Amino acid sequence: MTHWPTRSFSCIASFGPKLPFIACSFHPSKTKLYLRYSTTIAAIRGPYNYINQQDKNNFYDILKHKSRLLDDQDVSNYVADWHGYYHNNTRNFTHIALRPTTTQMVAAIMKHCYKRNLAVVPQGGNTGLVGGGTPVFDEIVLSTSLMDDIINFDPQSGILICQAGCILKNLQDYVGNYGFTMPIDLGARGSCQIGGNLSTNAGGIHFVRYGPLRRYVTGVEVVLSNGVVLDMITPQPMQDSDFKQLFIGAEGTLAILTKVAIKCVETAKCYSAIMLGCKTHHQVTSVLMDARNVLGHTVSAIEVMDSAAVSVVNSKLGLKCPLSPHPFYALIETFSNDEDQNIDKLSHILSLLENKFGSMESAVSLNQTQLSQLWSVREHITEALKRDGHVYKFDISVPIAKYFDLVDVMRHEIGSYSSTICGFGHLADGNLHLNITSKQYDKLLLNRIETILCDWLVQNGGSISAEHGIGFHKAHLMHGSKSSNSLAMMRSIKAHFDPKVSKANVRALKQFIT
Ligand SMILES: Cc1cc2nc3c(=O)[nH]c(=O)nc-3n(C[C@H](O)[C@H](O)[C@H](O)COP(=O)(O)OP(=O)(O)OC[C@H]3O[C@@H](n4cnc5c(N)ncnc54)[C@H](O)[C@@H]3O)c2cc1C
Repeated sequence: MTHWPTRSFSCIASFGPKLPFIACSFHPSKTKLYLRYSTTIAAIRGPYNYINQQDKNNFYDILKHKSRLLDDQDVSNYVADWHGYYHNNTRNFTHIALRPTTTQMVAAIMKHCYKRNLAVVPQGGNTGLVGGGTPVFDEIVLSTSLMDDIINFDPQSGILICQAGCILKNLQDYVGNYGFTMPIDLGARGSCQIGGNLSTNAGGIHFVRYGPLRRYVTGVEVVLSNGVVLDMITPQPMQDSDFKQLFIGAEGTLAILTKVAIKCVETAKCYSAIMLGCKTHHQVTSVLMDARNVLGHTVSAIEVMDSAAVSVVNSKLGLKCPLSPHPFYALIETFSNDEDQNIDKLSHILSLLENKFGSMESAVSLNQTQLSQLWSVREHITEALKRDGHVYKFDISVPIAKYFDLVDVMRHEIGSYSSTICGFGHLADGNLHLNITSKQYDKLLLNRIETILCDWLVQNGGSISAEHGIGFHKAHLMHGSKSSNSLAMMRSIKAHFDPKVSKANVRALKQFIT
């Protein structure tokens, strides 16, 4: 049995029949109360119907092809998330996944589900890391994986219109042929879909260059929970309220995205990067300052990782870091139309840093192959951790000056109960990926990690969510980082687009706000 050092007062409280066991810990000295409870105990299946053969027949009619409805063994990949984890509650239920090819099919499915009180969870490429795209109980999975048509690309405006199920990498390659690039890139590019990217308002490795994805979205088409189609693909007049933005970052709780229009950006000719070995936190933050000063708007990525992250990539995937061992590594990427100019700027950053800290080990890419090699370790951390046991993932916002502090705190508090504790992420945005692994899932360990995490975030001014979203994993932590007024507003927006939630407490689309 695991015994944790007691730092806070914990109690088991009963909050009525809906949430029978809520463990809460309260620090009188702090301003915020975080409620924590086991998601497996607290999640209650709403009073929606169970799917029957008649429903299935109806879906076959809508989908027009048997292979577009998956059940039994075929559905397993749609019920488990990217890690292969299931929500515990799903085990005793039967599942189906529907794979429509058109907006009309999505609308007909939603209309039927609305009438029959059947719950639905939208799913894109299923690479989400917060349990948002898979069923919690027996929700019908509505997958956009067959909605992958590119409808139009206008090389003059750079606007791409496509179905929501297009895979990001395919879109990158497609617009690349016209000299354009997508304003987003991330490690899961080969599987994630543009609809999933918009639904999570994904950040990614080039966030420092492009900013939020929502900025580039010129239109969307969505299907509401009752099957009504809202076509907002054509750019709206500037004076109109831009309410399509409500559906971006909503994680599929308000509607299903079926089409998107995105403004792509012109591709620079050359990208170059430098990897630097750093000894201290202070050196890491200096890298950021100097890179920003020297590169200005030509910076395309500033990523960092610690030695534990690099080690796990080496031990689990056999990938070697180009540098010898260091406590931290920084990776800076720049772009322009002239490779020599890139190299000059990266060398200048190195000399500024060496003036301050003495000699630093570094590797600069001189061509595309070397650039990919420098990125390789950083891009494989998530994959390597998956092979290191059960992964507890926390995608959080932290003050840049304290970027790696929480990783040290975790090592001190729970180091002996875990296999790997590592930190990496998008330094320029203060977005830290704190990842902890243990041989197998341990509920007590998770509770302990969440307690330390929430306490630290309250004390140091951070947020429980950065780019991956809230999903199911973090819904119970939202009370700590959002005001009650904000939560009330989110609930009423949800009730507006998904009225059965308020009227009959039926979740036509998965609801995350608790
Ligand atoms: C190796 C790896 C690296 C990653 N790197 C990053 C990163 O750098 N930055 C980042 O932000 N994320 C990252 N992620 C997380 C993930 O890839 C992103 O969140 C991605 O945007 C999810 O897209 P998806 O198509 O896989 O969506 P899914 O996982 O299928 O779904 C994600 C959420 O969106 C909803 N959804 C999906 N499609 C639709 C739709 N058409 N309409 C309505 N709702 C929908 C789902 O219900 C769910 O709540 C990474 C994941 C992996 C595995």
